[in-house]
Amino acid sequence: MSIILKTGREKSLLRRHPWIFSGAVQRVDDPSAASGATVELLSFNGDFLARAAYSPTSQIRARAWTFEDEPVNAEFFRRKIRAAINTRQRSNVERQSNAIRLIHAESDGLPGLIVDRYGDVLVLQSLTAGAEFWKETFANILVEETGIETIYERSDADVRELEGLQPIVGPLRGTPPNQIIITEHALRYTVNLASGHKTGFYLDQRANRLRVRELAQDRDVLDCFCYTGGFSVNALAGGAKSVLSVDSSADALNLCRENVALNNLPVTRHSSLEGDVFQLLRKFRDEGRSFDMVILDPPKFAPTSAQVEKAARAYKDINLLAFKLLRAGGMLVTFSCSGGVDAALFQKIVAGAALDAGAQAQIIEHLSQGADHPVALNFPEGAYLKGLVCVKGK
Ligand code: SAH
Repeated sequence: MSIILKTGREKSLLRRHPWIFSGAVQRVDDPSAASGATVELLSFNGDFLARAAYSPTSQIRARAWTFEDEPVNAEFFRRKIRAAINTRQRSNVERQSNAIRLIHAESDGLPGLIVDRYGDVLVLQSLTAGAEFWKETFANILVEETGIETIYERSDADVRELEGLQPIVGPLRGTPPNQIIITEHALRYTVNLASGHKTGFYLDQRANRLRVRELAQDRDVLDCFCYTGGFSVNALAGGAKSVLSVDSSADALNLCRENVALNNLPVTRHSSLEGDVFQLLRKFRDEGRSFDMVILDPPKFAPTSAQVEKAARAYKDINLLAFKLLRAGGMLVTFSCSGGVDAALFQKIVAGAALDAGAQAQIIEHLSQGADHPVALNFPEGAYLKGLVCVKGK
Protein backbone atom coordinates (compact mmCIF):
# COMPACT_ATOMS: atom_id res chain seq x y z
CA MET A 1 0.00 0.00 0.00
CA SER A 2 1.15 3.58 -0.50
CA ILE A 3 0.69 7.13 0.72
CA ILE A 4 0.85 9.86 -1.90
CA LEU A 5 2.00 13.24 -0.64
CA LYS A 6 0.77 16.67 -1.65
CA THR A 7 2.86 18.58 -4.15
CA GLY A 8 6.04 19.97 -2.59
CA ARG A 9 5.56 18.04 0.65
CA GLU A 10 8.36 15.59 -0.17
CA LYS A 11 11.04 18.13 0.82
CA SER A 12 11.55 17.01 4.42
CA LEU A 13 11.80 13.38 3.30
CA LEU A 14 14.43 14.32 0.73
CA ARG A 15 16.42 15.73 3.68
CA ARG A 16 15.79 12.35 5.33
CA HIS A 17 13.65 13.67 8.14
CA PRO A 18 11.58 10.60 9.10
CA TRP A 19 8.18 12.16 9.92
CA ILE A 20 5.21 12.73 7.62
CA PHE A 21 2.40 14.79 9.14
CA SER A 22 -1.23 14.18 8.22
CA GLY A 23 -1.41 17.62 6.54
CA ALA A 24 1.17 16.53 3.96
CA VAL A 25 -0.88 13.54 2.82
CA GLN A 26 -2.79 13.80 -0.45
CA ARG A 27 -4.15 10.29 -0.49
CA VAL A 28 -3.83 6.91 1.23
CA ASP A 29 -4.55 4.23 -1.34
CA ASP A 30 -5.79 1.69 1.25
CA PRO A 31 -7.14 3.53 4.31
CA SER A 32 -8.02 0.21 5.95
CA ALA A 33 -4.32 -0.69 6.18
CA ALA A 34 -3.32 -2.02 9.60
CA SER A 35 -1.87 0.27 12.24
CA GLY A 36 1.92 0.02 11.99
CA ALA A 37 1.94 -1.69 8.60
CA THR A 38 4.70 -0.80 6.17
CA VAL A 39 3.69 1.66 3.46
CA GLU A 40 5.46 3.26 0.52
CA LEU A 41 5.70 7.02 0.61
CA LEU A 42 5.40 8.51 -2.87
CA SER A 43 5.71 12.08 -4.07
CA PHE A 44 2.76 13.69 -5.82
CA ASN A 45 4.44 12.67 -9.08
CA GLY A 46 4.68 9.08 -7.94
CA ASP A 47 8.41 9.01 -7.16
CA PHE A 48 9.51 6.62 -4.40
CA LEU A 49 10.60 8.49 -1.26
CA ALA A 50 10.65 6.06 1.64
CA ARG A 51 9.21 2.93 3.28
CA ALA A 52 7.47 3.88 6.46
CA ALA A 53 5.25 2.72 9.31
CA TYR A 54 1.63 3.80 9.02
CA SER A 55 0.07 5.49 12.07
CA PRO A 56 -3.61 5.94 11.13
CA THR A 57 -4.65 7.81 14.30
CA SER A 58 -1.59 9.98 14.82
CA GLN A 59 -0.88 13.49 13.52
CA ILE A 60 2.46 12.01 12.52
CA ARG A 61 0.81 9.75 9.94
CA ALA A 62 3.94 7.85 8.92
CA ARG A 63 7.52 7.42 10.12
CA ALA A 64 10.20 6.37 7.67
CA TRP A 65 12.13 3.15 8.30
CA THR A 66 14.25 3.63 5.20
CA PHE A 67 14.80 6.08 2.36
CA GLU A 68 16.14 3.31 0.12
CA ASP A 69 13.98 1.09 -2.04
CA GLU A 70 14.69 -2.01 0.07
CA PRO A 71 12.53 -4.55 1.91
CA VAL A 72 11.58 -3.80 5.50
CA ASN A 73 11.79 -7.17 7.26
CA ALA A 74 13.55 -8.98 10.08
CA GLU A 75 16.91 -8.86 8.29
CA PHE A 76 16.55 -5.12 7.76
CA PHE A 77 15.87 -4.59 11.47
CA ARG A 78 18.74 -6.88 12.45
CA ARG A 79 21.12 -4.60 10.52
CA LYS A 80 19.72 -1.48 12.20
CA ILE A 81 19.89 -3.02 15.68
CA ARG A 82 23.45 -4.24 15.10
CA ALA A 83 24.49 -0.79 13.93
CA ALA A 84 23.00 0.80 17.05
CA ILE A 85 24.81 -1.65 19.33
CA ASN A 86 28.08 -1.07 17.44
CA THR A 87 27.80 2.68 17.95
CA ARG A 88 27.65 2.12 21.72
CA GLN A 89 30.69 -0.13 21.57
CA ARG A 90 32.63 2.49 19.64
CA SER A 91 31.87 5.22 22.18
CA ASN A 92 33.14 3.10 25.09
CA VAL A 93 30.08 3.98 27.10
CA GLU A 94 29.95 0.38 28.33
CA ARG A 95 33.08 1.06 30.34
CA GLN A 96 31.28 3.79 32.25
CA SER A 97 28.20 1.87 33.24
CA ASN A 98 26.33 -1.40 32.96
CA ALA A 99 23.17 0.58 32.27
CA ILE A 100 23.14 2.15 28.82
CA ARG A 101 20.73 3.03 26.07
CA LEU A 102 21.20 0.62 23.16
CA ILE A 103 18.54 2.04 20.85
CA HIS A 104 17.44 5.66 20.79
CA ALA A 105 14.48 5.55 18.42
CA GLU A 106 14.59 7.98 15.46
CA SER A 107 18.22 8.82 16.27
CA ASP A 108 19.17 5.20 15.49
CA GLY A 109 16.89 4.98 12.49
CA LEU A 110 14.26 3.04 14.46
CA PRO A 111 11.35 5.45 15.11
CA GLY A 112 9.41 4.65 18.27
CA LEU A 113 11.78 2.01 19.64
CA ILE A 114 13.72 2.57 22.87
CA VAL A 115 15.88 -0.21 24.30
CA ASP A 116 17.90 0.25 27.47
CA ARG A 117 20.20 -2.32 28.99
CA TYR A 118 20.28 -2.58 32.79
CA GLY A 119 22.91 -5.21 33.58
CA ASP A 120 21.47 -8.52 32.42
CA VAL A 121 18.03 -7.14 31.63
CA LEU A 122 16.83 -5.23 28.60
CA VAL A 123 13.97 -2.79 28.92
CA LEU A 124 12.03 -2.20 25.73
CA GLN A 125 9.70 0.71 25.16
CA SER A 126 7.51 0.81 22.09
CA LEU A 127 6.09 4.27 21.45
CA THR A 128 4.56 4.13 17.98
CA ALA A 129 2.27 1.99 15.85
CA GLY A 130 5.26 0.90 13.76
CA ALA A 131 7.36 -0.15 16.74
CA GLU A 132 4.36 -2.01 18.14
CA PHE A 133 3.82 -3.84 14.83
CA TRP A 134 7.38 -5.21 14.85
CA LYS A 135 7.78 -5.63 18.63
CA GLU A 136 8.08 -9.42 18.67
CA THR A 137 10.61 -9.30 15.83
CA PHE A 138 12.63 -6.69 17.77
CA ALA A 139 12.53 -8.85 20.90
CA ASN A 140 13.79 -11.93 19.02
CA ILE A 141 16.62 -10.01 17.35
CA LEU A 142 17.63 -8.29 20.62
CA VAL A 143 17.96 -11.64 22.41
CA GLU A 144 20.08 -13.01 19.55
CA GLU A 145 22.27 -9.96 19.13
CA THR A 146 22.91 -9.16 22.81
CA GLY A 147 22.79 -12.65 24.32
CA ILE A 148 20.51 -11.19 27.01
CA GLU A 149 17.43 -13.37 27.42
CA THR A 150 15.39 -11.24 29.76
CA ILE A 151 13.34 -8.31 28.46
CA TYR A 152 10.99 -6.13 30.46
CA GLU A 153 8.45 -4.09 28.53
CA ARG A 154 7.76 -0.53 29.63
CA SER A 155 5.42 0.64 26.90
CA ASP A 156 3.54 2.96 29.23
CA ALA A 157 4.55 6.43 28.01
CA ASP A 158 1.68 8.86 27.45
CA VAL A 159 2.57 9.40 23.78
CA ARG A 160 1.24 5.93 22.96
CA GLU A 161 -2.26 7.30 23.33
CA LEU A 162 -1.70 9.52 20.27
CA GLU A 163 -0.95 6.34 18.34
CA GLY A 164 -4.11 4.63 19.56
CA LEU A 165 -2.08 2.21 21.70
CA GLN A 166 -2.88 1.02 25.23
CA PRO A 167 -0.16 0.99 27.91
CA ILE A 168 1.63 -2.36 28.29
CA VAL A 169 3.97 -3.16 31.19
CA GLY A 170 5.41 -6.56 32.05
CA PRO A 171 7.81 -9.32 31.02
CA LEU A 172 8.37 -9.64 27.26
CA ARG A 173 11.03 -12.38 27.43
CA GLY A 174 12.15 -14.45 30.42
CA THR A 175 11.39 -13.48 34.02
CA PRO A 176 12.79 -10.01 34.66
CA PRO A 177 13.12 -8.71 38.24
CA ASN A 178 11.19 -5.61 39.28
CA GLN A 179 14.31 -4.03 40.77
CA ILE A 180 17.95 -4.14 39.84
CA ILE A 181 21.15 -2.54 41.12
CA ILE A 182 23.27 -0.88 38.45
CA THR A 183 26.84 0.45 38.62
CA GLU A 184 27.71 3.70 36.88
CA HIS A 185 31.08 5.44 37.20
CA ALA A 186 31.76 3.28 40.28
CA LEU A 187 28.56 4.28 42.09
CA ARG A 188 25.55 2.03 42.57
CA TYR A 189 21.87 2.77 42.17
CA THR A 190 18.74 0.78 42.81
CA VAL A 191 16.51 1.05 39.76
CA ASN A 192 12.87 0.12 39.75
CA LEU A 193 12.30 -1.34 36.28
CA ALA A 194 8.58 -1.86 36.84
CA SER A 195 7.65 1.65 37.92
CA GLY A 196 10.68 3.94 37.59
CA HIS A 197 10.49 6.96 35.30
CA LYS A 198 11.21 6.40 31.61
CA THR A 199 12.61 2.86 31.55
CA GLY A 200 13.64 3.10 35.20
CA PHE A 201 16.47 5.63 35.44
CA TYR A 202 17.66 8.87 33.79
CA LEU A 203 20.45 7.27 31.81
CA ASP A 204 20.78 10.45 29.72
CA GLN A 205 22.25 12.35 32.72
CA ARG A 206 25.18 9.95 33.28
CA ALA A 207 27.99 12.33 32.28
CA ASN A 208 26.33 15.25 34.06
CA ARG A 209 26.07 13.27 37.29
CA LEU A 210 29.82 12.69 37.11
CA ARG A 211 30.40 16.39 36.42
CA VAL A 212 28.43 17.29 39.55
CA ARG A 213 30.61 14.87 41.51
CA GLU A 214 33.68 16.76 40.26
CA LEU A 215 32.26 20.18 41.11
CA ALA A 216 30.60 19.57 44.47
CA GLN A 217 33.52 19.45 46.89
CA ASP A 218 32.99 21.45 50.10
CA ARG A 219 29.75 22.90 48.80
CA ASP A 220 26.32 23.14 50.33
CA VAL A 221 24.21 21.59 47.58
CA LEU A 222 20.49 21.86 46.90
CA ASP A 223 19.28 19.14 44.49
CA CYS A 224 15.82 20.10 43.21
CA PHE A 225 13.61 17.51 41.47
CA CYS A 226 16.08 14.94 42.80
CA TYR A 227 13.99 11.85 41.88
CA THR A 228 16.00 8.81 43.12
CA GLY A 229 19.03 10.94 43.91
CA GLY A 230 21.33 10.63 40.90
CA PHE A 231 22.81 14.10 41.45
CA SER A 232 22.58 13.97 45.25
CA VAL A 233 24.55 10.73 45.44
CA ASN A 234 27.24 12.20 43.19
CA ALA A 235 27.45 15.46 45.13
CA LEU A 236 27.99 13.46 48.34
CA ALA A 237 30.53 11.21 46.64
CA GLY A 238 32.34 14.34 45.45
CA GLY A 239 32.78 15.63 48.98
CA ALA A 240 29.89 18.05 49.33
CA LYS A 241 29.60 19.64 52.78
CA SER A 242 25.84 19.06 52.75
CA VAL A 243 23.21 17.89 50.28
CA LEU A 244 19.51 18.65 50.49
CA SER A 245 17.38 16.55 48.11
CA VAL A 246 13.95 17.88 47.22
CA ASP A 247 11.17 16.12 45.34
CA SER A 248 7.38 15.97 45.46
CA SER A 249 7.39 12.16 45.40
CA ALA A 250 7.83 10.34 48.72
CA ASP A 251 8.66 7.11 46.86
CA ALA A 252 11.44 8.82 44.91
CA LEU A 253 12.88 10.27 48.13
CA ASN A 254 12.83 6.82 49.78
CA LEU A 255 14.87 5.43 46.92
CA CYS A 256 17.13 8.50 47.03
CA ARG A 257 17.96 7.80 50.69
CA GLU A 258 18.44 4.12 49.84
CA ASN A 259 20.90 5.04 47.10
CA VAL A 260 22.90 7.24 49.49
CA ALA A 261 23.14 4.32 51.93
CA LEU A 262 23.91 1.82 49.18
CA ASN A 263 27.10 3.74 48.39
CA ASN A 264 28.16 4.10 52.05
CA LEU A 265 28.04 7.87 51.73
CA PRO A 266 27.91 10.07 54.84
CA VAL A 267 24.19 10.10 55.68
CA THR A 268 24.80 12.82 58.27
CA ARG A 269 25.53 15.24 55.43
CA HIS A 270 22.34 14.32 53.60
CA SER A 271 18.80 15.47 54.18
CA SER A 272 15.68 15.17 52.10
CA LEU A 273 12.51 17.16 51.88
CA GLU A 274 9.21 16.26 50.28
CA GLY A 275 7.48 19.21 48.66
CA ASP A 276 6.85 21.41 45.68
CA VAL A 277 10.06 22.97 44.40
CA PHE A 278 8.28 26.17 43.30
CA GLN A 279 7.02 26.73 46.83
CA LEU A 280 10.11 25.55 48.66
CA LEU A 281 12.46 27.80 46.71
CA ARG A 282 10.26 30.78 47.71
CA LYS A 283 10.23 29.65 51.32
CA PHE A 284 14.03 29.31 51.34
CA ARG A 285 14.35 32.78 49.82
CA ASP A 286 12.07 34.26 52.47
CA GLU A 287 14.06 32.51 55.19
CA GLY A 288 17.31 33.91 53.78
CA ARG A 289 18.82 30.46 53.17
CA SER A 290 21.73 30.10 50.77
CA PHE A 291 23.68 27.38 48.94
CA ASP A 292 26.91 26.95 46.98
CA MET A 293 25.34 24.77 44.31
CA VAL A 294 21.76 24.50 43.12
CA ILE A 295 20.73 21.73 40.72
CA LEU A 296 17.51 22.10 38.75
CA ASP A 297 16.44 19.07 36.73
CA PRO A 298 12.68 19.47 36.40
CA PRO A 299 10.27 17.25 34.47
CA LYS A 300 9.44 18.13 30.88
CA PHE A 301 7.50 21.41 31.18
CA ALA A 302 6.99 21.60 27.40
CA PRO A 303 6.75 18.18 25.73
CA THR A 304 5.87 19.95 22.45
CA SER A 305 6.06 23.49 21.10
CA ALA A 306 2.41 24.12 22.07
CA GLN A 307 3.34 24.50 25.76
CA VAL A 308 6.46 26.63 25.25
CA GLU A 309 5.21 29.90 26.73
CA LYS A 310 3.95 28.38 29.93
CA ALA A 311 7.10 26.26 30.19
CA ALA A 312 9.33 29.30 29.68
CA ARG A 313 7.64 31.02 32.63
CA ALA A 314 8.14 27.95 34.81
CA TYR A 315 11.84 27.61 33.86
CA LYS A 316 12.40 31.31 34.48
CA ASP A 317 10.69 31.15 37.86
CA ILE A 318 12.82 28.34 39.29
CA ASN A 319 16.06 29.63 37.76
CA LEU A 320 15.44 33.12 39.09
CA LEU A 321 14.82 31.78 42.60
CA ALA A 322 17.90 29.54 42.33
CA PHE A 323 20.10 32.55 41.44
CA LYS A 324 18.74 34.32 44.54
CA LEU A 325 19.63 31.38 46.78
CA LEU A 326 23.17 31.09 45.46
CA ARG A 327 26.06 32.61 47.36
CA ALA A 328 28.70 34.59 45.45
CA GLY A 329 30.82 32.06 43.56
CA GLY A 330 27.99 29.53 43.75
CA MET A 331 27.05 27.29 40.87
CA LEU A 332 23.76 26.74 39.13
CA VAL A 333 23.47 23.42 37.29
CA THR A 334 20.26 23.78 35.33
CA PHE A 335 18.53 21.53 32.80
CA SER A 336 15.62 21.37 30.40
CA CYS A 337 14.54 18.15 28.75
CA SER A 338 11.61 19.79 26.95
CA GLY A 339 11.50 19.06 23.24
CA GLY A 340 9.67 22.35 22.73
CA VAL A 341 12.47 24.46 24.27
CA ASP A 342 15.69 24.47 22.25
CA ALA A 343 19.17 25.24 23.57
CA ALA A 344 19.12 28.87 22.42
CA LEU A 345 15.76 29.56 24.04
CA PHE A 346 16.79 27.81 27.24
CA GLN A 347 19.91 29.95 27.50
CA LYS A 348 17.81 33.07 26.92
CA ILE A 349 15.41 32.06 29.70
CA VAL A 350 18.28 31.47 32.14
CA ALA A 351 19.84 34.81 31.15
CA GLY A 352 16.51 36.54 31.84
CA ALA A 353 16.29 34.79 35.19
CA ALA A 354 19.77 36.00 36.21
CA LEU A 355 18.98 39.54 35.13
CA ASP A 356 15.74 39.68 37.10
CA ALA A 357 17.45 38.13 40.13
CA GLY A 358 20.06 40.89 40.00
CA ALA A 359 22.77 38.26 39.58
CA GLN A 360 25.82 38.47 37.40
CA ALA A 361 26.63 35.04 36.07
CA GLN A 362 28.74 33.26 33.49
CA ILE A 363 28.16 30.01 31.68
CA ILE A 364 31.17 27.80 32.25
CA GLU A 365 29.79 24.70 30.59
CA HIS A 366 27.08 23.48 28.23
CA LEU A 367 25.79 20.01 29.04
CA SER A 368 23.73 17.55 27.04
CA GLN A 369 22.68 13.91 26.85
CA GLY A 370 25.26 11.13 26.88
CA ALA A 371 26.85 9.38 23.91
CA ASP A 372 24.39 6.51 24.14
CA HIS A 373 21.64 9.03 23.29
CA PRO A 374 22.98 10.09 19.89
CA VAL A 375 21.36 12.74 17.72
CA ALA A 376 20.95 11.83 14.05
CA LEU A 377 21.83 14.90 11.99
CA ASN A 378 18.65 14.37 9.96
CA PHE A 379 16.61 14.39 13.19
CA PRO A 380 17.53 17.46 15.26
CA GLU A 381 14.56 16.79 17.58
CA GLY A 382 16.74 14.03 19.05
CA ALA A 383 18.77 16.70 20.93
CA TYR A 384 16.33 17.19 23.78
CA LEU A 385 18.48 17.52 26.90
CA LYS A 386 20.09 20.90 27.49
CA GLY A 387 22.08 21.89 30.55
CA LEU A 388 24.08 24.91 31.68
CA VAL A 389 26.58 25.27 34.46
CA CYS A 390 26.60 28.90 35.55
CA VAL A 391 28.78 30.59 38.14
CA LYS A 392 27.27 33.48 40.01
CA GLY A 393 29.58 36.47 40.39
CA LYS A 394 27.71 38.54 42.90
N1 SAH B 1 17.14 14.74 38.59
C1 SAH B 1 16.57 13.42 38.48
C2 SAH B 1 15.46 13.34 37.49
C3 SAH B 1 14.33 14.32 37.71
S1 SAH B 1 12.80 13.76 37.13
C4 SAH B 1 17.68 12.41 38.14
O1 SAH B 1 18.74 12.81 37.72
O2 SAH B 1 17.43 11.21 38.31
C5 SAH B 1 11.72 14.95 37.72
C6 SAH B 1 11.35 14.79 39.18
O3 SAH B 1 10.63 15.95 39.55
C7 SAH B 1 10.45 13.62 39.53
O4 SAH B 1 11.06 12.86 40.53
C8 SAH B 1 9.15 14.24 40.05
O5 SAH B 1 8.62 13.54 41.17
C9 SAH B 1 9.63 15.60 40.49
N2 SAH B 1 8.67 16.70 40.44
C10 SAH B 1 7.80 17.04 39.47
N3 SAH B 1 7.19 18.21 39.75
C11 SAH B 1 7.69 18.62 40.95
C12 SAH B 1 7.48 19.76 41.77
N4 SAH B 1 6.64 20.73 41.40
N5 SAH B 1 8.15 19.85 42.92
C13 SAH B 1 9.02 18.89 43.31
N6 SAH B 1 9.29 17.80 42.56
C14 SAH B 1 8.63 17.67 41.40
